[in-house]
Amino acid sequence: TVAVVLFTADLRLRDHPPLHAALRSADEVVPLFVLDPGIHAAGFDAPNRRAFLADCLRDLDASLRRRGGRLVLRSGPVVREVCAVAAACGAAEVHMAAGVTAYAHRREERLRKELGAVGAALRVHEAVITALAPGAVTPAGSDHYGVFTPYLRRWSQETLRRPLAAPRAVRVPEGVRGEPPPGRAGVSGTSPGLPPGGETAGRDRLARWSRSGGMAAYEDRHDDLAGDATSRLSPYLHFGTVSAAETVHRAREQGGPGAEAFVRQLCWRDFHHQVLAARPEASWRDYRTRDDRWRGEDDAAEDIAAWRDGRTGYPIVDAAMRQLRHEGWMHNRARLLTASFLTKTLYVDWRIGARHFLDLLVDGDIVNNQLNWQWAAGTGTDTRPHRVLNPTVQAKRFDPRGAYVRRWVPELADVDAGRIHEPWRLPEDRRDALGYPDPVVGLAEGLTRFRRARGRE
Ligand code: FAD
Repeated sequence: TVAVVLFTADLRLRDHPPLHAALRSADEVVPLFVLDPGIHAAGFDAPNRRAFLADCLRDLDASLRRRGGRLVLRSGPVVREVCAVAAACGAAEVHMAAGVTAYAHRREERLRKELGAVGAALRVHEAVITALAPGAVTPAGSDHYGVFTPYLRRWSQETLRRPLAAPRAVRVPEGVRGEPPPGRAGVSGTSPGLPPGGETAGRDRLARWSRSGGMAAYEDRHDDLAGDATSRLSPYLHFGTVSAAETVHRAREQGGPGAEAFVRQLCWRDFHHQVLAARPEASWRDYRTRDDRWRGEDDAAEDIAAWRDGRTGYPIVDAAMRQLRHEGWMHNRARLLTASFLTKTLYVDWRIGARHFLDLLVDGDIVNNQLNWQWAAGTGTDTRPHRVLNPTVQAKRFDPRGAYVRRWVPELADVDAGRIHEPWRLPEDRRDALGYPDPVVGLAEGLTRFRRARGRE
C-alpha cells in the first residue's frame, strides 16, 4: 500500500505526526511538497521567505535521501497536484497537518472532496504546526480564547504529546515524477543578512542558543534590543522545521524562569493560531474593536514612506525598520513599537504595516503577523486597546545606551547616549551636520489625533 504525506508548514522529519502515521499504515510513502502559484499570485511568497523555503526543501530532501527516500516536489495548484500524485501511485491515504488560515481551510475542504474521486482518503493531523491543537481548550460559551492570560493558564495545564523520533527509513514508490528542489541562489531581492533555512539549521540554532545560556537568560534579557538575546527561532517555527511541541518539551526539561518565560512566548503563538482558526477573517478584518477612520496611502503617503524606509526622525523606529530590511527579521519589542508608531502615532491603517512586514519578514506569517498587528493597533486581543507606546520612553528603557540605534542608524553613530534617542534636542548646527531627518510628527500631535479619532478626548 502507498500513502502520500503532504508537507506544508511542517518541513521536518522529527516529531512529524502525519509522516509517522503514514509510515505505520503503508509500505511506501510519497513525501510531497507543492509549490502553488496561487501563493505567488496572492503576493505571499516574498523573496526572503522564498529563499528560506528553498533551503528548507533542500534540507528535507537530503534528510529523506539519507533514509533511502526523496522529496517529491511539484509545481501547480495544490489540490490538482496532490490528486494527480495520489492517483499515479494508487495511494489509499493522504496525510497532512491541519492549518488555520482561510486558505488552509479551503485547501482541506477541496482535498477531502477531490481525493474521494481518486479513491484516497484525507487524514488531517492536529497539533503538528502548533504545540496544542487550536480548539483543544475553550472557555465556557465560546469557541476560542480572545484574551491571552486565561488561555495561558489553561494551556499550561494541558499535557502535550511526546515528541516523535525521525523515521529510520522511508521507501518511496518508483516512478513518481517530481522536480529538483529550487536553490536559494535563484531568488533575487533578498535581505543580505538572511539566516540559513532547514531542519538541520533550526535544530542547530535551538541547541546552540540553549547551550550558550540563551534560554536560561531569556527572562532577563529578551527585551534588550542591542543584546539580541532571543532565540531567533521564528522562521524555523514558521516553516515548521522545528516542532513547537518539541521545543516546549525541551524548554520544560531545562526548566527555570528563563525557560518558563520562553514557553510563554511559544504559548502566544498557539494563542494566535486558535484565534485565527476560529475567526479566519481576522487576518485582514478588525477582530474586536472596529476602527474605520485610519489614514491610508492617499492621506498619509509621505509618512508611510518615511516609516517603511526608516527615516521618521525617531531613531528607535528607524533602527528597527532598517533592521527589518537588512535582515528580514526584527526584534519583538521593535515590532511592537514600530507597529504602535505607525498605527497610533501616525494613525495609519494596520493593514498597510502588516503588508510591509509580510513583504520582508522571513518569519512573515498570516497568523502571528496579522494578530500581533491587530494587538498593537488596538483592534485585536489587547485588553487595553487605546494604550500608546511612546517610542522615546521605550527607546530609553530597552536601548539605554543607544547601541541598537548606533548599529542601524550610522548617521547617529557619534551621538552620545544622553541625546541619541532625541536628536531633535541637539543644538541646531550639530543637528544639521548629522543628515538625519526631523520627526515626521510631534508625539503630542500624534497622540491628540489618535485619541480624537477614537473618541477618547
Ligand atoms: P523568541 O522571543 O525567542 O520567542 C520564541 C518563539 O515564540 C518565537 O520564535 C515565536 O514563534 C513565538 N513568539 C514570540 N513572541 C510571539 C508573539 N508575540 N506572537 C506569536 N508568537 C510569538 N512572529 C512570527 O513568527 N511571524 C510574524 O509574522 C510576526 N509578526 C509580528 C508582527 C508584530 C507587529 C509583532 C508585534 C510581533 C510579530 N511576531 C511575529 C511575533 C514576534 O515578534 C516574533 O515571533 C519574534 O520576535 C521572533 O523572534 P524570536 O524567534 O527570537 O522570538
